[in-house]
Amino acid sequence: MAEYKGVLIFGEVTNGKLASITTELLGCGRNFADELKEDLCCLLVSDKTGETAPRDAIVFGADKVYTVEDSLLKEYQGETYIQVVERLAKELSPRVILMGQTPVGRDLAPRLAFRLGTGLSTDCVDISVDSETKLLRQTKPVYGGNAQAIFICDAMPQLVTIRAKTMSPRERDDSRKGEVIPTKIEINMSPIKTKIVEKVKEEVTGIKLEDAPVIVGGGRGIGGPEPFKTTLKELADVLHGAVGASRPPADNGWIPEAMHVGLTGKIVAPEIYIAIAISGASQHIAGCSGSKTIIAINKDPEANIFREANFGVVGRYEEVVPAFTTKLKELLAG
Ligand SMILES: Cc1cc2nc3c(=O)[nH]c(=O)nc-3n(C[C@H](O)[C@H](O)[C@H](O)COP(=O)(O)OP(=O)(O)OC[C@H]3O[C@@H](n4cnc5c(N)ncnc54)[C@H](O)[C@@H]3O)c2cc1C
Repeated sequence: MAEYKGVLIFGEVTNGKLASITTELLGCGRNFADELKEDLCCLLVSDKTGETAPRDAIVFGADKVYTVEDSLLKEYQGETYIQVVERLAKELSPRVILMGQTPVGRDLAPRLAFRLGTGLSTDCVDISVDSETKLLRQTKPVYGGNAQAIFICDAMPQLVTIRAKTMSPRERDDSRKGEVIPTKIEINMSPIKTKIVEKVKEEVTGIKLEDAPVIVGGGRGIGGPEPFKTTLKELADVLHGAVGASRPPADNGWIPEAMHVGLTGKIVAPEIYIAIAISGASQHIAGCSGSKTIIAINKDPEANIFREANFGVVGRYEEVVPAFTTKLKELLAG
């Protein structure tokens, strides 16, 4: 029987740089590797992995970085990527494999679990190692975020996808030493049944929701599309933040789908989340509960959002928000 050892991260590269989810995975992977006294490896797959991303993988915690370059790997395609990940996972026999709960991770992880004959926990928000069994305790929200379940899988390797912004990356350490191992893996084209015909980039103006330090989120109580572009946008601009929303504004077409926060939308963890006219349904909270500070503005003092918020204002947003924005401008100017 194979001896399973070490932690393997499936890294994602965007425009030649490590995706933020990868630095987060490296952060928690490093902790496990230290606890287990085993290596932390990172796999980077692309047509050109370059020098920055592999170096940064080491800087953020990896001991070894396997780079696989092939023109067939330019765009993510499950049928090509799985060949690379399966080969490397079989060669390295890691105890733990971590992937991001990203569009790529969501597609790749179940394929890999099937091919390795192991289990998979998706969308985990917390993981820890059981010191006796060395198995992972995998925590994930269930029942629409109303409860959390802990899973332990005794099949090897332990395969998990992790929700973005739930793990902290380590501080950059440019003095860290590690090994970059260019690896050649032949891609077999015969099982490939799909091809990418066109890639349409989502238009993003201003700060991306996931990267914004402050998010001003509006709910159904905003009443229409206009205040998102005026009242809420003005507040977000003063705070150098971005405008987000609960699901009803997206369903109603008041805001683009990409701005919707929650279980079925974006998962965000800004420094400050200002929830305006949002009732605080669990499916919405599932997307913003990682925020450092939540401020709620709602006319209903019984709204659930006040149970989640650190600070709250009971009142009509049409009055509260402009006054708040004016005061902030005064304070920032002074
Ligand atoms: C499977 C599933 C997945 C879902 N996924 C998501 C998700 O990802 N994200 C998400 O957000 N929801 C999601 N939902 C929907 C979720 O259950 C709630 O219905 C939704 O979050 C409610 O949005 P809301 O708070 O904006 O609206 P409401 O619940 O209608 O609340 C509106 C709030 O605005 C307040 N209000 C009204 N007027 C004013 C005013 N003038 N000034 C101040 N306050 C005012 C009201 O007091 C009320 O609290 C999902 C539901 C299901 C079943």
